[in-house]
Amino acid sequence: MEIAIIGGGLSALSAAMEISTNATNPVKIHIFEKKSQLGGRIMEINSAKIGKVDFGQHLISGAYHNTFSYLKKVQPNFSINDLVEQKMYFIRDNEIFPFKNPQFIFPINSILGLISNKFFTFAEKLKFLEQIIYIKKTKHSQKTISELLILEETKFKNLNNFWKKFLLSVFNTEIENIEKNQLQYVIKNIFCSSSRNSRFYLPKSTLAKLFVHPFWEKSKQLGIEIFLKSKISRISFLENDKVEIDVNNGNTISYDYVISTIQPNEIEKLLHPKINFPNKWKGNTILTINFKLKKISLKNGLFAITDSFIDWIFIDKLRATIVISNSQDIQNFQNNDLIEIILQEINKKCYSFSIGNVVSLEVLKIIKATMSSDNLIINLQEITSFPYNRLLFAGDWTILEIPQTIESAILSGKIVSERIIKIQQNPKR
Ligand SMILES: Cc1cc2nc3c(=O)[nH]c(=O)nc-3n(C[C@H](O)[C@H](O)[C@H](O)COP(=O)(O)OP(=O)(O)OC[C@H]3O[C@@H](n4cnc5c(N)ncnc54)[C@H](O)[C@@H]3O)c2cc1C
Repeated sequence: MEIAIIGGGLSALSAAMEISTNATNPVKIHIFEKKSQLGGRIMEINSAKIGKVDFGQHLISGAYHNTFSYLKKVQPNFSINDLVEQKMYFIRDNEIFPFKNPQFIFPINSILGLISNKFFTFAEKLKFLEQIIYIKKTKHSQKTISELLILEETKFKNLNNFWKKFLLSVFNTEIENIEKNQLQYVIKNIFCSSSRNSRFYLPKSTLAKLFVHPFWEKSKQLGIEIFLKSKISRISFLENDKVEIDVNNGNTISYDYVISTIQPNEIEKLLHPKINFPNKWKGNTILTINFKLKKISLKNGLFAITDSFIDWIFIDKLRATIVISNSQDIQNFQNNDLIEIILQEINKKCYSFSIGNVVSLEVLKIIKATMSSDNLIINLQEITSFPYNRLLFAGDWTILEIPQTIESAILSGKIVSERIIKIQQNPKR
């Protein structure tokens, strides 16, 4: 069997690894990535001002079980200790409040965490427990997510603040656009689960070093061929059950199956004959400013800035990263204006971050950090019948139950590989 994988992000790497290690018969895999490096949205940027950084700050949740199993596959010695655990704090009126989740089973961990929490009032602590248990148990609530989580402002201000910051960081979209089943997945896995699931981690260096570099080594052993700077401009479905792809170097190559891992609005344009997808998608932006600092009085960790358009600051020694999720409103500002308003705001909300200590900075405006659909998402794999059935889909947006994350990208690669293996076992399907 010969397979082309279009795109070289995490979902592609996961699909390639899973197929080549689990296939029952030999499979030839070619990965085509339009950029000059693998990784997609977790690629590495070498900035003249601040050095090597990720293309946007990423957190790895302790609940990312598929991600950890991918890491073990590409790097058998991998352990969670290879990551740096991040302590979480909320900043309100310049005061810093730690959020802890002690190492006990659920619900003891959550209850103990809430008892020591000084950010919430007593009424908010009880309401929080009520909310997470209700969402965990109730599959088809008639209430919207806003109605479920955002309450009367005078009585539940801090709790509202918590949910707004937390949900924005996970879903990167307005609360109204969050899918209920995805919220339920997050509540179940992060808040109503083991303490490890509720922890957050960063790689010791860059994401590319953690996920991509060991993949290169493994791909050589497994015979996976990688073509960089190879943009696919057309996918054609032939009478003889083959799929043909046009590469930007002028080559046209045919395969038994093509796995697309690119974003949904892009794949639609490539198909020949054309197919109209049921959902229309738009990109959600993220704005990241990476700083190199002379000094900082904040500890290492993640700091949510309440009552501010700035969402989070990540501190790692003398590096700081400010993140503004769903940043459409300010995305088009000139960089100088943007930097000025952000520095003014951060100085107001967090005295520990002094403008005088900034050595250099770099602004990253990411337009399609995640995708939102105009409608209830329909699983494309269910509707693409002949001749499109030789086109399989992976990518973070294809897993309808999980927010668009590293975990959903890796899981999507695993699911598409299971389909390939089933096809191998029963070619008539
Ligand atoms: C700023 C930012 C912050 C984020 N924060 C987090 C976080 O904290 N935690 C978390 O879990 N996730 C986070 N994410 C999401 C995470 O990065 C993605 O969900 C994941 O990397 C998606 O992987 P993918 O393989 O599905 O897609 P992609 O990484 O987008 O891969 C698709 C690839 O296809 C290539 N491509 C596109 N068109 C073509 C073509 N025609 N021919 C060939 N190649 C093509 C692209 O160049 C790209 O490499 C964040 C994302 C961003 C941008």
